Amino acid sequence: MAHEVERPTYEVVGPLERFDERDNVFAREAYLPGSPEEREYHARHPELVEIDRRLARFIEEKIDNPPEVPEDPLNEAFYETTFGSVAPLAQPDAVDGPVNSYRVEVDPVEMARRIKAIARHLGAYLVRIGPLNPAWVYTHRGVRPFFEDYRDNPPLFTGVPEGYQGLKYSDPIEINHRYAISMAFPQNAALIRTTPSLVSDFEVGRVYAASALAAVELGKYIRALGYPARAHHLRNYGVLLVPVAVDAGLGELARCGYVINKELGANFRLACVTTDLPLAVDKPVDLGVQDFCEKCLKCADTCPSQAIPSGEKVEVRGVKRWQVDAEKCLLYWGSQGAACAICQVVCPWSKPPTLFHRSVAEIATRIPQARRFLIKADDLVYGAKYRPAPFPEWLRQGGDT
Ligand code: SF4
Ligand code: SF4
Repeated sequence: MAHEVERPTYEVVGPLERFDERDNVFAREAYLPGSPEEREYHARHPELVEIDRRLARFIEEKIDNPPEVPEDPLNEAFYETTFGSVAPLAQPDAVDGPVNSYRVEVDPVEMARRIKAIARHLGAYLVRIGPLNPAWVYTHRGVRPFFEDYRDNPPLFTGVPEGYQGLKYSDPIEINHRYAISMAFPQNAALIRTTPSLVSDFEVGRVYAASALAAVELGKYIRALGYPARAHHLRNYGVLLVPVAVDAGLGELARCGYVINKELGANFRLACVTTDLPLAVDKPVDLGVQDFCEKCLKCADTCPSQAIPSGEKVEVRGVKRWQVDAEKCLLYWGSQGAACAICQVVCPWSKPPTLFHRSVAEIATRIPQARRFLIKADDLVYGAKYRPAPFPEWLRQGGDT
């Protein structure tokens, strides 16, 4: 396969350290003041009390002062449509479950081919298989998945099922699978270009919901073959999807913190299934993204919260990489009342996969000397500044834009 290399292009400069999901900003924004999680977490991290209070304010505000009449009811209803629909797929028996006692004997090469075809049929656009590096498994569950009383159970989902046996906040995560099947799901460019807006949120949620369902289905298929398998999606992660995808050759880790794929740029979302099903693995790729990002600062220059560094890479848990300031990023989302995807949109690699753009990506990959010119050309053609696109006509009817 073109551009395959023996090692991923991120530089390992020290012992790799596993990440604790409790430190993730999406977990921390739900540590509502006075809740058991908040007390436990801030007893260990008093230095984060102030910033986490600011992170939590967005959720608190929604709970404590829900508007009687939504500002934009036609578009606000999208949240339940997509993100709300994923909640049942977060259940422990959806992401994992009993393995069939009858085990089908498989050939790893044939099986890898079949799994990729099935994953594509289930909705994935790209599928790659890599070895699962144990360093990418979270150490502890940080997100409490269900909601009873909001102070005790931040409202990520509603309804605690009777007899819930899944991992709860602070439970250790153990996943010893050998392989990880990474899947990429593209986002609709017209909808994402409205970001930050309820319409781009709708698209992000739609893609996440589709990716969650595909991961759950693929995991169930593998368990029915007699092999353990665990789905990982936005509502129930056990592994860090970005390095897992990079190891499988879906793309390279970029300055903006996302994976850049040659065909989709950064305009896609990930889901994954880890398993012990014998599978032939793919190799990582070198598309020249590290050098391209050195020369291109478009995401850093465009980020409204200055969360993306314009400087050098730093060491993060053993890997030298650009470190996005997730707190600044999430605070900006809160200030807008919608998630932001500007860095995904403006990246010169995120272009519709026309013949022309595929040729440009080919040049960017193969000819390092052309990269500065391509970056300038991107600014000239698409603009150096970001301007959100209007909502598409079918979403304007009957609603405010
Ligand atoms: S999502 Fe928006 S705020 Fe966050 S890093 Fe990207 S551009 Fe910046
Ligand atoms: S916008 Fe430029 S610097 Fe940022 S991720 Fe894309 S290529 Fe890299």
